[in-house]
Amino acid sequence: MISLVTLIISTLLIMGILYEYFESQLKKQLQTEADYIGAAVLTEGISYFDNIDTNERITLIAPDGTVLADTAADSSALENHIDREEIRLALQNGRGTSVRYSDTFTQRTVYYAVRLANGNILRVSARQYTVVTILLKLVQPIAVIVLFAVLASAILSARVSKAVLDDEEREKRERMRSEFTSNVSHELKTPLTSISGFAEMLMLGDADKETVADFSRSIYDESQRMISLVQDILRISELDEKMQFEPEDVDLYELAEEIMECLRPEADKMQVRLRVIGEHISINGVRKIIYEMLYNLCDNAIKYNRPNGLAEVGIYEKENTVLLTVRDTGIGIAKEEQERVFERFYRVDKAHSRAIGGTGLGLSIVKHGALYHRASIQIESEKDKGTNITVCFPKK
Ligand code: ADP
Repeated sequence: MISLVTLIISTLLIMGILYEYFESQLKKQLQTEADYIGAAVLTEGISYFDNIDTNERITLIAPDGTVLADTAADSSALENHIDREEIRLALQNGRGTSVRYSDTFTQRTVYYAVRLANGNILRVSARQYTVVTILLKLVQPIAVIVLFAVLASAILSARVSKAVLDDEEREKRERMRSEFTSNVSHELKTPLTSISGFAEMLMLGDADKETVADFSRSIYDESQRMISLVQDILRISELDEKMQFEPEDVDLYELAEEIMECLRPEADKMQVRLRVIGEHISINGVRKIIYEMLYNLCDNAIKYNRPNGLAEVGIYEKENTVLLTVRDTGIGIAKEEQERVFERFYRVDKAHSRAIGGTGLGLSIVKHGALYHRASIQIESEKDKGTNITVCFPKK
C-alpha cells in the first residue's frame, strides 16, 4: 500500500513538472516558428501558403479578423477570428498566446500569434495531449511499474519484518533462558538448604537414634528430589537444543502398558486403578521422547488422583491423526490455570506438588515433546472431577 501510494504521488508530481516544462518549451518553439514564418510571409506574400508542407496549423489573418490563408482548412469557409484571444492580444501588443481545450478534453491547442509589419497577424498552433490522456496512454507501462514496485516492496518488507521477528525471537529466548536459570537455581536451593540443615544437625552428634534415622530419610528424600529435578532439566535442555534423535515406529499401546507396569507400585500406594484402552497404533517418532511424555502424563494422572480413582490411557485413530489421551478422575485443574500448567516450574499447588515429588517440569516436557513431533495438545479438565489431556500426533 505504502509503495503504491508513493508511486502514485510521485508519478503525478513528475507528470505535473514535466508537463509544465514541455508546455513552456512548446510556447518558445511556437514563438520562434511564428517569427521565421512571419518573415517569410512578408517577403513571399500569401503565395507562401501554396507550397508549404507542415504538420502544424499556420493561419494568416487580416487586421479585421478575416482569415486570409490557413494550412489546415479552406480560409474562405472559416469564420472571423477577431474575437480569438491570441489575435486580440497580438493586435493590441504585437504578440499574443492562448490555450484552448478540444471538446473531448483529450487534447489542448496552444496558439501563438504575432503582428507582422504590414498589420496582418500570423498565427501558429500546435496540439498537446492533456495530463489525463497521457496517463491513459501510459496505463500499461504504469501497471508494470506498479506491479514491480509492489513486488519489490513486498520482498523488502518481508525481509525487514523477518529481521525484526528474528531479533524479537532472540530476545525472547534470551529472557526465557535467564528466567529458566534463575528458576533452576531457586528450585535446587530449597532441597540443598534442607540437606545442609539436616547434615549440620547430624554433625553435632547429640541426636538420638530415631532422630538420626528421621534426618537421614529427609536427606535421602531431598536428594531424590534433586536427582529427579536434574533429570527433568537435562531432558528439557535436550529438547531445547533440538538434538537430533533417531525416529522409529513406536506402538503407543505397548508403550502405555510398559509405563503402566512401571507406575503400578505408585498407583497401588495411591489406590488408583490403571487401564489402557484403544488400539495398537504405531507412529513414527522418537521412542525416548514419547516415553517421557506419556510417563509424565500418567504420573500426573496418578499423583493428582484420589483413592479409588482411575487413570486411563486411550489410543485412537481419527482422520489423519493419532490421538493419545490420558484421563483421570482426580482433583482437576481450574479453567484459568489450564494453559499455565504447561509453563516451566508452574504448579497449581506448590506445596502439594513438592510433597508428592513433583518438579513442575513434567507438562513442560510433554509440551516440548509434542512440539518436536509436530503434535498438538488439548486439555479438558473440571475441578474436582478430573482431567483429560490429549496429544494429537500427525499420522505421517
Ligand atoms: P509437577 O511436577 O508439579 O507435577 P507438571 O508440569 O507435571 O509438574 O504439572 C504442573 C502442575 O499442573 C502440577 O503441579 C499440578 O498442579 C497440575 N497438574 C498436572 N497434571 C494434573 C492432573 N492430571 N490433574 C490435576 N492437576 C494436574
